[in-house]
Amino acid sequence: MLLVSLAFTGIAGIEEINIQQHDQHNSYLCNKDPESPSIFAGASAKTITPDLYRHDPIYLAGFGRGRKATGIHDDIWSRCCCIRIRDTTFAIVSVDLIGVMYSEYHRILGRLPDSIAIDHIILSSTHNHEGPDVIGLWGPGFTTGVHWEWYEEAMDIIADSIIEAYTTMVPAGLRFGHAEAEGFSRDSREPICTDDQVETIQIVDYNLTTIATMVFYGSHPEVLWDKNTLITSDYPHYIYQHIEETVGGTAMFVIGAIGGLITPRVPGHTFEDAQRFGTAIASLCLESVQNSSTIWDTPIRIDLQEIAIPLTNPIFRLASILGILNRPLHHMRRDVMTAVCVIELGEEGSLAQIVTVPGEEFPESWLDLKEKLHADHRILIGLGLDELGYIVPSEDFDWRKYEESMSASRFLDYYIHQTLESMLTMKDTT
Ligand SMILES: [Zn+2]
Repeated sequence: MLLVSLAFTGIAGIEEINIQQHDQHNSYLCNKDPESPSIFAGASAKTITPDLYRHDPIYLAGFGRGRKATGIHDDIWSRCCCIRIRDTTFAIVSVDLIGVMYSEYHRILGRLPDSIAIDHIILSSTHNHEGPDVIGLWGPGFTTGVHWEWYEEAMDIIADSIIEAYTTMVPAGLRFGHAEAEGFSRDSREPICTDDQVETIQIVDYNLTTIATMVFYGSHPEVLWDKNTLITSDYPHYIYQHIEETVGGTAMFVIGAIGGLITPRVPGHTFEDAQRFGTAIASLCLESVQNSSTIWDTPIRIDLQEIAIPLTNPIFRLASILGILNRPLHHMRRDVMTAVCVIELGEEGSLAQIVTVPGEEFPESWLDLKEKLHADHRILIGLGLDELGYIVPSEDFDWRKYEESMSASRFLDYYIHQTLESMLTMKDTT
């Protein structure tokens, strides 16, 4: 913005407008005060990869039932970034799993000692289709696909990753980047609609050393597809690798709007395809933050609200009764409890608006909501705090279709978006 202002020096009206905008941003930029920093951040990455000698059998989640893991290609992770801004502390955790559900989210919070004073924790799963089952739907026959010993250990490690990110916080600044990954992914359901945005938040310390790079993009991590039996984090593996080799720090991948159904446009289903895809996304991210200014202070507002949504999927109810679904029956009997969270940075959310949805958001719904928001950076976190399956737009709901069979309720869209709209600072249309 400073460059733009200088370029227009001499044209009084335009200069004034630009300086005003510049000043608005300057109020966050200029407060780099080593004596009393406003922002602190820490990051961690811990593997949750099963040990196939101890944990056998491991069934891979996604695609058909009974797909047994035969080896490990690369690690799966719990990656966490903890940020304190002024007096508010929040953490974003992303795990390379098909979907950690809300009941488990609470159990993970329960594993944290009292000394970990985090106001809000956002746990999201990448929706990895090449990692162990944590929901229960992918076992052989009528049995759960969850390996409970591995599962309990993994949930402990997720809690540990939050503790480590919290305890390693140092004074920090934030950088934002926006890029478009046009044509990278395809939509397999009408209406054809993709959200090509790749948002990046990079966190640096006071020496400008990278602490973490968070990548937000929406496309199913399923490049390896249904014949693969090696555990991998799929294309996010190559995002982590490329970013960490290039700028250091901890790389994180957070899934966006993948519903209805967004999948990588790749020529094949090999690790080379996953590598090309992941590396291309990572390069876009790094480019997008390369020249962005660093923000050392900003107002912050966080709101988290629980919602009870009527459960309408009879198969989910039955699976819960049979003990196949890893979600207690009291969560599934009539209403299913879940939650949404909103983070706003900048004056009235002018810098960034981060929104979580507890499942697989359709891009058309997200673009509709995004249009009503006003921040410079509008970010969706899919599978936030929960995985209730596809959030099918109400007007498009049809029980005969695949996404509906994998959706906890026909009311998800209505309840989730009504709640979010009441929580967010919306664009002033007057
Ligand atoms: Zn999916």
